[in-house]
Amino acid sequence: MSDMNSCGSESLKLDGSIYCGLGFGCNNDCILCVANISEKHENMSTSQMIAYFDRIIGNKNLTIQISGGEPTIRRDFLYLMEYLSVNAPRITKVLLSNGRMFCNTDFTAKVAVYPPVCVLVPLHSYEPELHDMITRRPGSFNETVLGIRNMLEYKITVIPKIIVNKLNYKLVPDFVEFVAQTFPECGAVGIDTMDLLGSAGVNKEMLKVKHTESAPYIQKAIDVAQKYGLHISVIYMPFCLVEEKYRKFITPDESIVMYKDPRDEKLTGGLTKERGTVDACGKCKYVGKCPGTWYSYFREFGYDELKPIYD
Ligand code: SF4
Repeated sequence: MSDMNSCGSESLKLDGSIYCGLGFGCNNDCILCVANISEKHENMSTSQMIAYFDRIIGNKNLTIQISGGEPTIRRDFLYLMEYLSVNAPRITKVLLSNGRMFCNTDFTAKVAVYPPVCVLVPLHSYEPELHDMITRRPGSFNETVLGIRNMLEYKITVIPKIIVNKLNYKLVPDFVEFVAQTFPECGAVGIDTMDLLGSAGVNKEMLKVKHTESAPYIQKAIDVAQKYGLHISVIYMPFCLVEEKYRKFITPDESIVMYKDPRDEKLTGGLTKERGTVDACGKCKYVGKCPGTWYSYFREFGYDELKPIYD
């Protein structure tokens, strides 16, 4: 990566994945949001976003994860997507969205003109009441489900995902069954472990669950996905907490440069490491491959669950 300052115009040479929050606003107010949207931040302006995009436009092996808050509620969202697609067609765009805006078919049709390679949509349950309780927005489940249907109608690739917490971890196998039966066109489903930051940190007593408790349900969920031929990936679950045959479904360690807000020098100075393996892993044979888990999780639960593997 090149030297830079927070407002610099120098181009950024990047490989791999970057995460870019387009703004702090959201039409949900999830109790497990890591961003804590109730904190007041001013969004980047359109010209600030364009100036940032201009700095990464020359990269060829780059995936940009476009997130927020909720990126689709920006009034300039379609313009920003078009700008990136037209000026940087070799950059892969992944959209992280709660999907609610896509319940509007006109909006969906416009996104489909310059579609992201996929849209990752969190669904917190197959039970509307639980989903809406977590989003703190009544009716959000129905809008998200309709949004997913509309995206699929317009041939936009969608991957529903569940963020595992104390309120839903026993439901994860049935969630995968729901996705397989309701949206077979998706072909894939994601399972995320939870980062206990932001609102999730504020609400952690309601949400936190040990990986050793959730792992058996995640394993069952993998079995369900395999039954349906559904691709499944699990994010930030330590290899040592699942049986060996399930480890291949855990996404290996990857370094994502965090650009939560490109104005913030601390966040643009390079890799922000918020998860991974730890000293307690010792000489485990999976160090370097295993994703470990969130440092916020280790701060809450310590390292006693880890069982380094030597054979
Ligand atoms: S001990 Fe550490 S490196 Fe080994 S599997 Fe567990 S978390 Fe991963």
